[in-house]
Amino acid sequence: MLIYFLCVLAIIGFSVFYLFFYRGWLRDLRLREPFPEHWQDLLRKQLPVYRSLPPQPRHQLEQHVQLFLAEKSFYGCDGFEVDDTVRLTIAGHACLLIIARSFSDFDDITSILVYPDAYRVREIESDGLVVSESEQIRAGEASSRGQVVLAWAECEQGAVNPNGHHNVILHEFAHQLDYLDGTADGAPPLGGEQARHWQKTMTLAYEHLRRSLSHHHKPWLDPYGATEPAEFFAVLTEAFFQQPDHLKAEQPEVFEALRGFYRLDPITFDESPP
Ligand SMILES: [Zn+2]
Repeated sequence: MLIYFLCVLAIIGFSVFYLFFYRGWLRDLRLREPFPEHWQDLLRKQLPVYRSLPPQPRHQLEQHVQLFLAEKSFYGCDGFEVDDTVRLTIAGHACLLIIARSFSDFDDITSILVYPDAYRVREIESDGLVVSESEQIRAGEASSRGQVVLAWAECEQGAVNPNGHHNVILHEFAHQLDYLDGTADGAPPLGGEQARHWQKTMTLAYEHLRRSLSHHHKPWLDPYGATEPAEFFAVLTEAFFQQPDHLKAEQPEVFEALRGFYRLDPITFDESPP
């Protein structure tokens, strides 16, 4: 009887440990390993902002990258070979988004699929009466099922143009952060006053962008952001990290809302309270 009782206790203890503490314990263990020097070299080359990061954010980024590479699976598609350059480029940019946030923001992401170049996708849509089929060419996509798909040629373009308009890695991982509250609606999880400020600021800015385009004005922000609020957030995230001075000068309220969510100022990389 005592053995039976001890066995049940051991099973309960193990289950509690596995459910609530195992992931944290494993992460602590992984973070005790040193960050390899050749990973630092690759980040210097593939993520230019890494070179100018202050010590604390740099350390935080390295820790996130270490966990990202240990926990996420990479798959090459169409014969593409995933090497350390590919892994570090993607992990570095993705983790830049959560440098002042928790790595648990990426808990639901399981795999990264990498195509050599922009890839074709067959899209089937139905309005209940008519089923239509079309072919799209994509540079990347994010899914709520934990997959991120990227075209390597586009990732490289973003990496060599750190102050450009486009960065597909930042874009797709911003979508993943948008999914954190269960819906891709352009409003990542925020609470209280921060959520109200976000809603008001982003609605105004989104409408402003759509109005500018309808009057054929050329906005400095990527017009793709006007397609829907989820794309607006992803495009703004690209601008926030790649052209922060410009975004701050053009739309200080939007910059402030993003600074609150990302908990940092991408101009100085000083951590800011939300
Ligand atoms: Zn998008």
